Amino acid sequence: MAGRNHLYVPGPTNVPDSVLSAMHVPMEDHRAPDFPKLVKPLLEDLKKIFRTETGQAFIFQATGTAGWEVAMCNTLSPGDKVLSYRFGQFSHLWIQSARRMGLDVEYHEVPWGEGVPLDHLEQRLRQDANHEIKALLICHNETATGVTNDLKAIRDVLDRTGHPALFMIDGVSSIGSIEFRMDDWGIDVALTGSQKGMMLPAGNAYVCFSQKALEKRHEARLPRNFLNIEDQIQANKDGYFPYTPSTPMLHGLRKAIDLMLEEGLDNVYARHHRLAEGVRRAVLDGWGLELCARDPKWYSDTVSAIVVPEGFDARDVMKVAYYRYNLSLGGGLSEVAGKVFRIGHLGDVNELMLASAIVGAEMAMRDVGIDVKPGSGITAAMEYWRDTAPPLEA
Ligand code: PLP
Repeated sequence: MAGRNHLYVPGPTNVPDSVLSAMHVPMEDHRAPDFPKLVKPLLEDLKKIFRTETGQAFIFQATGTAGWEVAMCNTLSPGDKVLSYRFGQFSHLWIQSARRMGLDVEYHEVPWGEGVPLDHLEQRLRQDANHEIKALLICHNETATGVTNDLKAIRDVLDRTGHPALFMIDGVSSIGSIEFRMDDWGIDVALTGSQKGMMLPAGNAYVCFSQKALEKRHEARLPRNFLNIEDQIQANKDGYFPYTPSTPMLHGLRKAIDLMLEEGLDNVYARHHRLAEGVRRAVLDGWGLELCARDPKWYSDTVSAIVVPEGFDARDVMKVAYYRYNLSLGGGLSEVAGKVFRIGHLGDVNELMLASAIVGAEMAMRDVGIDVKPGSGITAAMEYWRDTAPPLEA
């Protein structure tokens, strides 16, 4: 098919050309004497993306799924109780991973489209007077439903109840896109992957530990080998890795972090918010459809899950979009399969890139018989983006 594919799944995201170029390097000796010149500043600057000065960041050559294991196996022991909430496919998978690792997982069902119920959490933590709950596992941004949790509010609950549980966050579809403050919000372990806000191919998990969480490695008894942070700590202190790293990914990460810090993280968050709001205007005001996220307080600035009207299958919309218009939309996962399609608006994106996603989704919806008014989505989005456009620099 002529022309380029329009990639608007919520990860992998579009990799900027400058990052692709930075990765296009010959292979090199990862034990060379000057290799630490690449690694040491990279690990330091990676902490800035997590917004931590006191924590320690690690790079694992694996995907976000491994990040869950890194968080748990280095801090917990078999049979330890952990508390979680299930409100989408990724919170579900983290819970499953904790169970498979031999933890005693207490989780509560939340309707898909909502996030962590703070009242329930507070009540549960208060009940746990003996502090049996060792960790709280929270998916910051549920990519399957487009729901973002308020981590500051969750931290406040932990503080109010005086509960010492480790606060562990899956930030795979939030870190580097949505406001995230590891130190300010007292987060103990935060993890993300390379293929979303970090604007890289899949294949890296970035995991950051607070000092409190780092100390837990001395008592944690869950088995670990490749994901053992002790090996990383020993190798990283000299600027090396305990195994053969993918060096092109490290060069790509260097460039991606430079781009983010150049733009300024607060500007990155603001850009994501403004672009996301344009997409929401298209969905809600233009097409008159609903988002899976049930309340504006849950709206995600990285992904919108759009509910197709009764009697239609979102998979048909995606199929037409892909084959007829070369547009990749995200699908509905598990409980929302066929009910929603998703537009990812994260990473290296701007207004006109997202315009193609909106126009393509609108064409595909009309093709399958969904009665959205032609041009309604893009009109709502473009007027919002025009109204909120930053002034031109002199
Ligand atoms: N957590 C969230 C919130 C995700 O969106 C994803 C992937 O989409 C994962 C975890 C799993 O990451 P990976 O596919 O890189 O293993």
